[in-house]
Amino acid sequence: MSSLLVDNIGELVTNGTGEGPLGIRRDAAVLVEEGRVVWVGPSAYAPAADRRLDAGGAAVLPGFVDSHAHLVFAGDRAAEFAARMAGEPYTGGGIRTTVGATRAATDDELRATVRRLRGEALRQGTTTMEIKSGYGLTVADEARSLRIAAESSTETTFLGAHVVPAEYADRPDDYVELVCGPMLAAAAPYAKWVDVFCEQGAFDVDHARAILAAGQAAGLGVRIHANQLGPGPGVQLGVELDAASVDHCTHLSDADVDALAGTAHSDGSGTRTVATLLPGAEFSTRSPYPDARRLLDAGVTVALATDCNPGSSYTSSMAFCVALAVREMRMTPAEAVWAATAGGARALRRDDIGVLAPGARADLVVLDAPSYLHLAYRPGVPLIHQVMRNGVTP
Ligand SMILES: [Zn+2]
Repeated sequence: MSSLLVDNIGELVTNGTGEGPLGIRRDAAVLVEEGRVVWVGPSAYAPAADRRLDAGGAAVLPGFVDSHAHLVFAGDRAAEFAARMAGEPYTGGGIRTTVGATRAATDDELRATVRRLRGEALRQGTTTMEIKSGYGLTVADEARSLRIAAESSTETTFLGAHVVPAEYADRPDDYVELVCGPMLAAAAPYAKWVDVFCEQGAFDVDHARAILAAGQAAGLGVRIHANQLGPGPGVQLGVELDAASVDHCTHLSDADVDALAGTAHSDGSGTRTVATLLPGAEFSTRSPYPDARRLLDAGVTVALATDCNPGSSYTSSMAFCVALAVREMRMTPAEAVWAATAGGARALRRDDIGVLAPGARADLVVLDAPSYLHLAYRPGVPLIHQVMRNGVTP
């Protein structure tokens, strides 16, 4: 059994025991065996190990957990982005453009895109990445999207209800029946989660409830795209169905915030349903950002994710989302880094990632900086010096 000691860590973010909400330890070391953290403590008292990785006095934090990404697609929508920046509004209608390109692509083309983006994210410190389907929208195309996604992640999500495809435009009830029946049956073997885009112009609350309940009955966990483009019933539907996460949360009523706060665990460890905020989408659609402060002040657990997709948020950078959350959403740097690591883990109902403590997966990032503060303080700078996933540096 080979062991690896990461030592000479100037500032270690554990998200566990230590100082402040990030559980910070100074002059620390982490011992890794068989892909797991087995010891965390002062560098001076570190046990011997077969190999050593010297962090050089820099900051080390848990790898980012990106709990919301759409990587299985073909084509790009750079022209749509340019038009939007020139003043055209975002309506979500461009999803159909990507659906056409995705259906026309070969398996190998889709696989190459997923691998390219997954690799791009990993180099930027993302050690866990959820991947959704949702650009196939036929039984065969959704199943193959998830089959390909499952090659790169265990956190795969069936999003057959991303948008009603053009061929069902005048009979959405029939499409929902397809999603709940044969499409779910073909997708479920490769999916851990079910998701619906519950929004005006996409799926209404009755359709969303039917699809999520069918997914639940097939053994999938629930997540939902809710309250992105305007107020709506999505967040409260998510709470009703014990969703692990309600995502976007840009337009919330007091009742929505209360419903999320009402899912609080009795031990004070946050809420059972997490609000996942996706500031890359507001950035790339030039829209108002969600009110993170209001959620945090109400005791709601908040996660940050990229929403990486070719239309409304084509970034794979969690550090960029951290910087946006701090600058534009009034999260403190500590809150934003927690939300991008431990928060993402909560949004996936995982306790083995997003934290550096004995028993956790050895997923960590060595920064080219003395403190996690630099992630927001030095936006756009490649500060990810080294990434370790499952105890291995890729
Ligand atoms: Zn999304």
